Amino acid sequence: MGNRKSNTIYCDHSATTPVDQQVIEEMQRVMNEVWGNASSVHQIGRSAKVELEMAREQIAGALNAARNEIFFTSGGTESDNFALCGLAEAFREQGNHIITSKVEHQAVLNTCKALEKKGFTVTYLDVDEYGMIAPGDVEASITDETILITIMHANNEIGTINPIDEIGAVAHEHDILFHTDAVQTFGKLPLEVNESPVDALSGSGHKIYGPKGVGILYANKNLDIAPQMTGGAQERNLRAGTENLPAILGLAKAVEIVLENRESEFERLRKLQQQLEAGLAKQIPGATVHGHPEKRIPGLTHIGFDGVDGESLVMNLDMRGIAVSSGSACSSGSVNPSHVLVAMGYEKDRTKSAIRISLGRSNTAEDIPILIEAIKEEVGRVRSAAENRNQTKNEVVHG
Ligand code: PLP
Repeated sequence: MGNRKSNTIYCDHSATTPVDQQVIEEMQRVMNEVWGNASSVHQIGRSAKVELEMAREQIAGALNAARNEIFFTSGGTESDNFALCGLAEAFREQGNHIITSKVEHQAVLNTCKALEKKGFTVTYLDVDEYGMIAPGDVEASITDETILITIMHANNEIGTINPIDEIGAVAHEHDILFHTDAVQTFGKLPLEVNESPVDALSGSGHKIYGPKGVGILYANKNLDIAPQMTGGAQERNLRAGTENLPAILGLAKAVEIVLENRESEFERLRKLQQQLEAGLAKQIPGATVHGHPEKRIPGLTHIGFDGVDGESLVMNLDMRGIAVSSGSACSSGSVNPSHVLVAMGYEKDRTKSAIRISLGRSNTAEDIPILIEAIKEEVGRVRSAAENRNQTKNEVVHG
């Protein structure tokens, strides 16, 4: 398959995806031929504007939204900031309480923390053992002050898909706005905003074989939202700055391609995921898959191995040309336990023993036995290294 570096099995599609060749060609076309400023009145500018609006129309269509409900941003992080800060600011007169969950991406969690510093109160909901948020818990935490509920569609670490239709329905019953961070599902799982109680939704380009640094915010056209980037009149006066046309049209191309075979790719990845998990469970004792057994992003396996340091496993696999990610967040040189696994109730040791394998377009059925064998060998290696270390320690202490 295209975009596959020889001898590397890339299994980190939840972190990012290789850019589709057709997307690259589209971006090259735009850079060569559609370089005008979409705000200019002359022909060159007007043709850029036409292409910009065609991209907006097409992306709106993917969500069954209206064209004027799509805002282009610099990615999922900005879309989350735009939605949370923009809505909190616009609705501040009506209340100061926001509801979210403990397992959101940092783009939401840290934005909520910033809003707390500005006087908002935030409830961070617990999750169940699968990392799922219960609509009943959302309802129980609503107060007279609640203006916004933000719950992610699917979790980026463990892949659990939340019941956002039910959660959105709870929000609407109480006249509260509902935003969802759909960065891990945008384009990949069907979601039609005209049929869902979703007022705002964040999506990103680089999770669907599009360019990095571009994303969308869907915001219902009847919604008041305060601009978070001030300047020119672009994006209906709500997000200033000359539009990044190559990235936006690249994103539109990526969306077009992802929709072409969404169902079959979903089924293909689901099958590969099942084969991988069955093989790992059979071959490796002490292996546990985290997240919901069925309601999970197809192709995403977050798995812990008793007595194994996930970081070492990731590095060993990398040396064999297999790219996976660790289940823990690494910051400033120290490995912190994953906030998601901690919220799910796992012990610290367990949170550090996991890796995330996220399959995508570049993976085939032939990869699965290779992955199983490599992971089995490397888990064995990491375990025996740990045993040897313990033995040496005991000998030093007792010897
Ligand atoms: N939200 C979720 C759930 C994500 O997985 C990510 C990226 O990993 C983001 C937000 C941030 O998106 P971006 O990298 O486009 O800023």
